[in-house]
This record gives sequence, C-alpha cells and structure tokens, in this order.
Amino acid sequence: MKYHSSSKSTRRKFLYNLGLTTLSLPALSSLYACSGKPSGKKEQSVNDGKKDKLGIALVGLGSYAGGQLAPALQQTEHCYLAGIVTGTPSKIPEWQEKYSIPDKNIYSYENFDSIRDNKDIDIVYVVLPNSMHAEYTIRAAQAGKHVICEKPMAITVEDCNRMIDACNKAGKMLSIGYRLHFEPYNLEMVRLAQEKEFGALKKMSSAFGIHTSPGIWRLNKELAGGGPLMDVGIYCVQAFCYVSGMEPLAVTAKEGPKTDLEKFKEVEESLTWQFEFPNSLVAEGMCSYSESICNLRAEAEQGWFQLEPAYYYGGLKGETSKGKINFPQVNQQARQMDDFALAIKNNRPSPVPGEMGRRDVKLLQAIYEAMQTGKRITL
Ligand code: NDP
Repeated sequence: MKYHSSSKSTRRKFLYNLGLTTLSLPALSSLYACSGKPSGKKEQSVNDGKKDKLGIALVGLGSYAGGQLAPALQQTEHCYLAGIVTGTPSKIPEWQEKYSIPDKNIYSYENFDSIRDNKDIDIVYVVLPNSMHAEYTIRAAQAGKHVICEKPMAITVEDCNRMIDACNKAGKMLSIGYRLHFEPYNLEMVRLAQEKEFGALKKMSSAFGIHTSPGIWRLNKELAGGGPLMDVGIYCVQAFCYVSGMEPLAVTAKEGPKTDLEKFKEVEESLTWQFEFPNSLVAEGMCSYSESICNLRAEAEQGWFQLEPAYYYGGLKGETSKGKINFPQVNQQARQMDDFALAIKNNRPSPVPGEMGRRDVKLLQAIYEAMQTGKRITL
C-alpha cells in the first residue's frame, strides 16, 4: 500500500542540520513518559563501514518492505539490509540480486527461529499483516534479536503486552515503525504546539484516507484487525498525541456509510471520531478506504498551523497563519531505522517504543467501542 511517494524557523533549520538525533529525540521523546529521557550526550557513531553497522532482516517482502524499507536501507548510516524472511520463494532471486543478500541470511516463516544462530542479524523488522505482528515479534525476541514492528503494533492490547513482555524477558529493544517522529514537518507541528508559538491549543483535526482494491488483507478483519482506522486512522491518533503532548480522556465515534457492502463486509469503510483532551482541547479524526485525503491542522488561541499532505513518505507541505513553512524532504524510514540502531548501540530508549504502540492500540480499540456502542467512552 503506497501512501504517495512524491518526491523556519531558523532555529529548527539549524537543529535539523545538526543531524537526526539532535532534531528528533529531544523534540518528541520528551512528550512520552514511556520513552524515557534523551541522554543529551553526543551519540557514538557506528558508521565505520558495514561491519560496524547493525544488520536488519525484513520479515514479509510486500509493498512497504520492497518499496520503502529496502531502498531506505541503502541510505542508512548505522544499519544495513542483512537478511530477508519470506513465504514466497519466487521473490528471493530478485531481492538477492538487488541487495546482495547471501543464501545464509534468507529464511522462511518455518525456519525463522534459527535466525538466533545468525550473527549478521541484529534487528528483525516485522512488516507483515497486522495480526501476524505479535507472533513474529515474540519469535524474534526469543531468538535474541531486537525488533522493529510495523504499525499498528498488534490487533489487541493483550498481544501488545505479550510482545513487550517477550522483549523485556529477552533483554531486547522493541520499537514501532512510527516514521513521522523523524520527519521535520511533523516535528515542526510539535514544536509550534509545545512552545505555544500561537498560544494554547484549542482544536485539532486530521483526516487520512486512501483508496483500496477489493480482496486485499486490509479488508480481512482477521488479518487487519479492522479497517482504515487500523491502517491510516492510526496516523491521526498518533499526531493528536504528539502535537498536543497529551493523551485523550474520552472518545465518541461514528461509522460512515458503506457504499460497497460486499467489499466492506468485514470492516468499516470510513469512520469519524472525536477525542476530548485535557484543557478543553478537542480533536476530530476521520479515516477512509474510499477517499484520498491527508491533513493535520491545529488551531490555537492566536493562530493556526497545518500540514497537507501530512503523512505521506514525501512531498509534505506546511503552513501557519503567519505563512508557509519549509523544510528539506528527508528519507523518513532511513532516519527511523538509523535512530533505532543508535538507540541500541548507545543503550538509550527508542522515542517510539512498544509502550507507545500499545497505548495507540488501546486508543484504537476505544474508538471502535465508541463506534459500536454509540456511547462516550472514557479512557
Ligand atoms: P503487503 O500486503 O504489501 O505485504 C505483506 C507481506 O506479508 C506479503 O507480501 C507477504 O510477504 C507477507 N505475508 C505473510 N502472510 C501473509 C498473508 N496471509 N497475507 C498477506 N501477506 C502475507 O502489505 P504492506 O507491506 O503494505 O504492509 C505490511 C505492514 O506494514 C502492515 O502492518 C502495514 O500496516 C505496515 N505499513 C506501514 C507503513 C508505514 O508507513 N509505516 C506503510 C505501509 C504499510 P512474503 O510473500 O514475503 O511472505
């Protein structure tokens, strides 16, 4: 599934130029108790050639692994594409040829556990359908590997707990594929809100919708756990939390009309919800599988700031009530994976840990409960 890949503050630009860790970590990790505090120390560099880079194995060679993660791993400084795990042997020759992956670093879902004996692989990156995240994260941790798991972390909070426990027990780190924590436009939204550049926040809104084809796993409740809320609505939920620096207190939600009963027989086609945050702040979210839309807006006491598109892989645009904002486009996935490699190397927390993934799954479940019962659900 592609989320469109297209190709000012002077202080923020200066920080950006200092590099990834200086920009991303203090800005976002300070918002989340569960992510711990940034060390503030200059981080050890591990880019002295491939042997010092951490090896990543991608599990599930679908469109995100092939279209974004593998190319991003050609640009990373602190980690590299060392191995692959696939259930489709016919994909192997192309991947081997493109990325020079040796035979010994190729696994199937059946022999995946033997990855424990492979010293080339430090990190397992789970890029499978949502309901498979828990099993492969737990197996990876039990095999002694650090894990990056794609969003949504899992389809139930119980699964998230099992994943966190398995990583803790193995003494391995777990992070979620929340790439926008490493993206300058989204970080600027955080800064504008947190530094109250336009005063206190009054209202936020965000919509993310993509078109889907019939028959894909995203429409299968067992594999996806739900519809567009699990897939794209989660970006709005995330943004409301990282921009405000708070967590919602209550939620109401309403399912949108179904235009195709056969295609959407298992999951919602669209959904709107409203979060109530502390300080009378409200946030209105919308997600859809039959509309192309992608925005994030914050209204504050003395002005507004917004992104449109807000969450694509590139081509983001930002504006405030004072004018346009401009940042360089970055490879979000490369920055995200490099940050995790540095977190491991320097023994500091990831700013996007499993606990954050679990919090979001809890919020998604509350939105579904509000939608199904028609009631206001307190959190
Ligand atoms: P795809 O359908 O393109 O790929 C999923 C891959 O998983 C398949 O190609 C297959 O790989 C493997 N697989 C194993 N079992 C199954 C099964 N029963 N049905 C389907 N596929 C299976 O999905 P995406 O790559 O788009 O998404 C994968 C994950 O990544 C999802 O959790 C999604 O939410 C997340 N994602 C995150 C994005 C982000 O921006 N952070 C963007 C897009 C997706 P193989 O043939 O190698 O076994």
